[in-house]
Amino acid sequence: MILDKEQLRANLDEVIWNIEEARITVSEHHIVKLVTVAKYTELENIRTLYELGQRAFGENQVQQLKERMAALEELPLEWHMIGTLQKNKINNLIDLRPALMQSLDSIELAQELNKKLEAKNSKMHCLLQMNTANEKTKSGVSAEQAVDIYQEIKENYPNIILKGVMTIGAHTEDTKLIQQSFETTHSIYEKLEKDGATICSMGMSGDYQLAIKCGSNLVRVGSALFKQK
Ligand SMILES: *Cc1c(COP(=O)(O)O)cnc(C)c1O
Repeated sequence: MILDKEQLRANLDEVIWNIEEARITVSEHHIVKLVTVAKYTELENIRTLYELGQRAFGENQVQQLKERMAALEELPLEWHMIGTLQKNKINNLIDLRPALMQSLDSIELAQELNKKLEAKNSKMHCLLQMNTANEKTKSGVSAEQAVDIYQEIKENYPNIILKGVMTIGAHTEDTKLIQQSFETTHSIYEKLEKDGATICSMGMSGDYQLAIKCGSNLVRVGSALFKQK
């Protein structure tokens, strides 16, 4: 559905205001980045959000990322890959040079990605995805292994530049459980700060305020920005 500019402006204002309200409870100095998840929306809405000042966009499929980067090439947008990366799509993703690959979810993927980056004499900024909700349907490394795997990637896979962690909150109505998964992720992020981690990516349309209060400094918001009143 293509939304008109006033609708998108109202949605964006609401999200920005909610982010503001949450981040100020953490600290005046706590800055939060908004990445618009465009996967369910039309190209036209991305263009309009750009006109409204939004610059960072995320996609969860390499093919769609490629098409949209090409279609919107003239705009100075920052693109994030946020979905599971299939091994046979690694080369395509490298060629797209995304600003940040948020879904590096296993040591095996890191190894493959590093090998292909090396072959192309290229580097990629990545986040280590953690499955702190412990859900079988979610990918990501466990909280127990996250610190070791992060350091292993840093030491052994030099073409991957790790910038922090990403998680998807627990899929439940139980706010306590969602909060727990965010708190676990944030405590691991804090341990990794000495290894140079600067990004703690957590929070989506249903839970970004909670995520920010738990220390998130990057939220990935989709449906809340594309609702039609
Ligand atoms: C789809 C998606 C989002 C955004 O979800 P909304 O609930 O629509 O805000 C955020 N992160 C990831 C990894 C996603 O796949």
